[in-house]
Amino acid sequence: MSLAKGVSGAAICWCLRSTNASPMNTRLEAKTADVNANPLHEAKKGEYLSDLSPKDKPWDRHRGNAVNVQTLFAGNADNERHAKFAKRINDCALTLEMGYSEDDKRVKLKRAYFCHVRWCPVCQWRKSLAWKARLLTALPKIQKAYPNARWLFLTLTVKNCDVADLRSTLAQMAEGWKRFSQLKAYPALGEIRSTEVTRSDSVTGDSHAHFHVLMMVPHGYFHPNNYLKHADWVQMWRESMRLDYDPVVDIRTVRPKARKKSELALHDAIAETLKYALKVDDLEEHPAWFLAVTDQLHKTRAVNAGGVFRKFLRGGEPDSDEMTQGENADDPEAKKEAEEKASRERARWHFDWAARPRRYALETRYLPVRHEDYVVVPPKAPK
Ligand SMILES: [Zn+2]
Repeated sequence: MSLAKGVSGAAICWCLRSTNASPMNTRLEAKTADVNANPLHEAKKGEYLSDLSPKDKPWDRHRGNAVNVQTLFAGNADNERHAKFAKRINDCALTLEMGYSEDDKRVKLKRAYFCHVRWCPVCQWRKSLAWKARLLTALPKIQKAYPNARWLFLTLTVKNCDVADLRSTLAQMAEGWKRFSQLKAYPALGEIRSTEVTRSDSVTGDSHAHFHVLMMVPHGYFHPNNYLKHADWVQMWRESMRLDYDPVVDIRTVRPKARKKSELALHDAIAETLKYALKVDDLEEHPAWFLAVTDQLHKTRAVNAGGVFRKFLRGGEPDSDEMTQGENADDPEAKKEAEEKASRERARWHFDWAARPRRYALETRYLPVRHEDYVVVPPKAPK
């Protein structure tokens, strides 16, 4: 799929870059002279994005994984939903429109089509980045409002279940969570919670569903009168889930930097909370299981914000805009400012997905031709 039609202004093919194609022999020079720092500036057609911009290497991996997931759904095309997923994933991020930010000295994604299929590895990755960006943008505001608050990382599990029972297990866990978070003893001021499903190593291949919760607690939580021991957390989850056994629960203190094995650094806790609901490794090893899980988790939510975090964090699934910006996603005001800045950096490079060798390669380059973007240098007078 080409994005060329939607590009504003006239397009100049990359191969004309070095020729003087302007009328009247008038030389045009970009106002921003520091083009040498831009690794795309001298790029040739067919060059790989991951060679030109190493930080964009994950694109090849995730798009390659998308081919695997798409193939899996296509192989089960009798199922109408799977056939639709296969078609949508097939079209996902076929062209990446990249730009260059002179302020950040970075190559940045400017536009791409995302399929939004929950199981698409490209979309999962971009959504995960967008969630991280939401949290990291909100963090200074949260910390300003609650300067003495502390952080905990909690993992709540129940016994493994058969994949056919996954949907009902997750529904019970959602109910259990509601009761848990309404307990008087529940200490969090706010939290962000994600659901993850992994395949257990046992021969039966049971599913292991669990919640990861990054929570902010008042400073007083660590006072001996308020502190909850591991056994207390187990008891609270057991009661909320109405279980007849002690569930596996893990609770860790989160600090800006971890000092002990039992602690987690804030950055790692955020990454752990916002990773994908389903691992692509599980697909490669157990495709039938992966397919069954996607059915069981259909239309369930991956990430939930609760408590005071709702005030600070945008809820709902990240949209295409946020997914495009990825880790650069910012709040709307900053975004507006960034867009204005971006309009001054209008050159674009289109990288197309190449099925062989599963990499993004430069296809076309577009230069802005709006007059105000350039300084017009009059031609030299003849001698
Ligand atoms: Zn996608």
